Amino acid sequence: MIPATSFQGKRVALFGLGGSGIATARALTEGGAEVLAWDDNPESVARATAEDIATGDLRGADWAGIASFVLSPGVPLTHPKPHWTVELARGAGVEIIGDIELFARERIATAPTAPFIAITGTNGKSTTTALTAHILQSAGRDTQMGGNIGRAVMTLDPPQADRHYVVECSSYQIDLAPSINPTAGILLNLTPDHLDRHGTMQHYASIKERLVAGSETAIIGVDDVYCAQIADRLERAGKQVVRISKRLPLTEGYFADGSDLMEAIDGRYSRIAFLEGIGSLRGQHNAQNALAAVVACLKVGLDLGEIQAGLESFPGLAHRMEQVGRKGHVLFVNDSKATNADAAAPALSSFPRIYWIAGGLPKEGGIEPLRSLFPRIARAYLIGEAAPAFSATLGEAVPYEISGTLAAAVEHAAEDAAKDDSSEAVILLSPACASFDQFKNFEIRGEAFRQAVNAIDGVSAIGGAR
Ligand code: ADP
Repeated sequence: MIPATSFQGKRVALFGLGGSGIATARALTEGGAEVLAWDDNPESVARATAEDIATGDLRGADWAGIASFVLSPGVPLTHPKPHWTVELARGAGVEIIGDIELFARERIATAPTAPFIAITGTNGKSTTTALTAHILQSAGRDTQMGGNIGRAVMTLDPPQADRHYVVECSSYQIDLAPSINPTAGILLNLTPDHLDRHGTMQHYASIKERLVAGSETAIIGVDDVYCAQIADRLERAGKQVVRISKRLPLTEGYFADGSDLMEAIDGRYSRIAFLEGIGSLRGQHNAQNALAAVVACLKVGLDLGEIQAGLESFPGLAHRMEQVGRKGHVLFVNDSKATNADAAAPALSSFPRIYWIAGGLPKEGGIEPLRSLFPRIARAYLIGEAAPAFSATLGEAVPYEISGTLAAAVEHAAEDAAKDDSSEAVILLSPACASFDQFKNFEIRGEAFRQAVNAIDGVSAIGGAR
């Protein structure tokens, strides 16, 4: 745990007592702050009280004596409307911050040179965070990974000069971290998302921009217009900007040429790393993630040999285009995290011959946005409530069956793919749907897929449950 010593002797109000809220309350108390914590859910309050955290209704608090208000990132700061605690804090002129801000202040106060890599973007955050941490760790660096992935940031080990922090940041967390100042800040990409919580695309983009604006080196994916504009703006303001692109041969920066990762200096190119043969990093979207990780690792002093070795040993993240088994020329891929059409597109784009398992609880728009990828699908196996709607969209374009359950879909897809005469046939679970009609969450759906695959005669498992 990181004691929040920069709050020593201060009174701090805290709202939101989920896992990260409790960890933050502890870090503050450990650092010598006087904490008053609350939640709208009485069970969360009771649990925190039982864990010796001082709780009390913030409606009755003496806000004049409060130095800072720490808000959980799950609670609305601006949209659809500010939470009642936000109104109270604003009314009393109390700063509103989150746990990443606590971390940033603690690092500056105790070990300002500790390398800090912060990662955001609409898609690919977790993959890039896990990959960066993996490369650093395999090069023998003392590495701590957390934030919006895995452990809450204040539960990591305390800052030291040679300790590396790799922190995934959601837009909500950045919104609560006004002084975030990473050594390397990564902004992967921006597409409209979470607008219910941020109002407009401009507001959402401006929040994400803060992470790179505050960083020593800003690493920005310039494949979308929002990020390209941010890169230009920061450069004009005199910041050190490194551009990355998964498709454009840049004159300055880093880009992917197929599976080769290239450095461009003044229009001259050289290959610095490659992804050929790395199963966990297939697809153009992963080239973007890998480029970001590579540039961040170069920034903190790794050499190209260490970086390539880390790329090659990256196991990938569970449920995101995760290779779970192989039988001869048939590869089984678990992309259960793809809960809408946009999220399923990268996996469908990554394989040429697909036996596609899709369906679940449908989202607005269905699979119509995936139509251009239909030629890659040899046959579709539809499950859950979305099956009738998806079958109507597939129509004559793709052969399909309504399998009903995931188990039946895996069994039938395996029988069909075994007869496929292409060099690699991929059985892909990338449902483009939420899981809640048949499973508790996407992780459980992905595990059910893994189990069904491993139950097939002759399948060799790849990796294990993570
Ligand atoms: P996040 O943490 O931002 O949700 P993940 O790394 O968990 O992202 O990846 C979730 C899904 O998003 C992946 O399964 C893949 O379909 C897609 N994805 C991953 N990286 C990218 C990227 N760089 N660009 C677009 N989509 C991506």
